Amino acid sequence: MTSELVANEANIAWQNCLKIIKENVSQQSFKTWFEPIIPYRLIGQKLIIQVPSQFFYEWLEDHYVQLLRKALDYSLGKNGQLEYSIIVDSGSKAKNEPTISVEAPKPEKEKPRNSFSNDKSSETIKNPFNLKALEDNGIDSCLNPNYHFSNFIEGDCNRLARAASFAVGERPSLSSFNPLMIYGGVGLGKTHLVQAIGNHIKMSQKGKELFVLYVSSEKFTSQFINSIRENSLQDFMSFYMQVDVLIIDDVQFLSGKEKTQESFFHIFNHLHQNGKQIVMTSDRPPRDLVGMEDRLLSRFKWGLTADLQSPDLETRIAIIQKKIEDEGIDVAFEVIEYLAHSIESNVRELEGVMISLIAQASLMRKTITLELAKTTLNHIVAENEKEVNIDNIMSTVAEEYDVRISDLKSKSRLRNFVIPRQVAMFLTKEHTSLSLKMIGYHFGGRDHSTVIHAIQTINDLSEVDKELATKVNKLRLMFKR
Ligand code: ADP
Ligand code: MG
Repeated sequence: MTSELVANEANIAWQNCLKIIKENVSQQSFKTWFEPIIPYRLIGQKLIIQVPSQFFYEWLEDHYVQLLRKALDYSLGKNGQLEYSIIVDSGSKAKNEPTISVEAPKPEKEKPRNSFSNDKSSETIKNPFNLKALEDNGIDSCLNPNYHFSNFIEGDCNRLARAASFAVGERPSLSSFNPLMIYGGVGLGKTHLVQAIGNHIKMSQKGKELFVLYVSSEKFTSQFINSIRENSLQDFMSFYMQVDVLIIDDVQFLSGKEKTQESFFHIFNHLHQNGKQIVMTSDRPPRDLVGMEDRLLSRFKWGLTADLQSPDLETRIAIIQKKIEDEGIDVAFEVIEYLAHSIESNVRELEGVMISLIAQASLMRKTITLELAKTTLNHIVAENEKEVNIDNIMSTVAEEYDVRISDLKSKSRLRNFVIPRQVAMFLTKEHTSLSLKMIGYHFGGRDHSTVIHAIQTINDLSEVDKELATKVNKLRLMFKR
């Protein structure tokens, strides 16, 4: 018999099985669990089928064993047997492993009634994964419509991450960025960016038909836990395995949650093997994800990992300008510059200040002046601002100029030390109530006239040296009161 014939026989036998299976499972389950199966060979009454993974095989055995028995009875008779051949996933290449021979399910003994409706009954269970909704196109992608590429400001800090995200948005699954992992500190735009991917896909012609899903890792975890409690793990898994573009936010949250990770691992493999797109974010690089299984971490490396850095001054200015423009208000550039200089850490904080500034201005029917910006900002940061004292002035200045605190106190006349030292004295006078004498004392036991000289010098230099003036201003803002 030629191999073609063998395959053909296997195919006929499997098609007969599918007839029975189709009658007993939902369309979704059929699509997820039975369509990917490839009939491989028929040897006597033994049918060998190929399944995509070990997990797949286990799932079939756990959930459909009775149904498979029934199907075999119909297709091959009571002595029909089933054997699974598992396509082992090793990296992105799939290769066949020697077949795992599995004892075909034995004919029904005294199983409870209705054992074939295993799958159907699960649909009547109330659970959050309304599989029916998928058919009705009523699925919620959980995307926030406000996050777009068009309102994501590009800068050196985010160029790669943005470009990769855009590529994925344009051609989900088809770029080499699968999975795409975006990481970066809090408030730097991770969620914005990955939501923009989802929205971009949904807006394209082809993307309308794709099942795009955004989920936070917290939500994923609690859904997983609930599904175990409610005995609907099957629905949970089936639901996620039907996603075309899975966007999962803040995966660091999965650290240490072994069981959740395991389910994610299987979903991840299933989707990836079926050419579906996966996008993830994390607040740290994958190598720092402590408590994350190695096999999961190694999966993260298949695609592209891109980071988001804190935005530089120009990008911060552009972000503020964009927000102002979107609000349709007019704000003087000096105010924008002031804000951009004052809030460096992250964009969320910057936005927070902007929002309260706009709110205040509209509340008091005022325009946003520099004065208002200053008071608002002072108000907001006052609480978490550390106490201004000579120690933190010294350490901040030392850090800014990349010198040591001991250099500020030393007798060295090197210009590299003199200027920072004078700036630190100047700021200490401005921001503390210390006397000139005390300031001199703290800066290596200097005379009060040295302190006066320092203050005078910085004042004079600021008039002519733009760079110095900017730096002093920037430092000054760190100690605003
Ligand atoms: P993360 O998820 O990294 O903590 P978010 O995506 O929630 O940060 O971003 C915080 C806020 O900052 C959001 O409102 C977002 O729109 C805004 N944001 C961050 N980066 C940018 C950017 N480059 N351009 C415009 N807005 C940004
Ligand atoms: Mg986020």
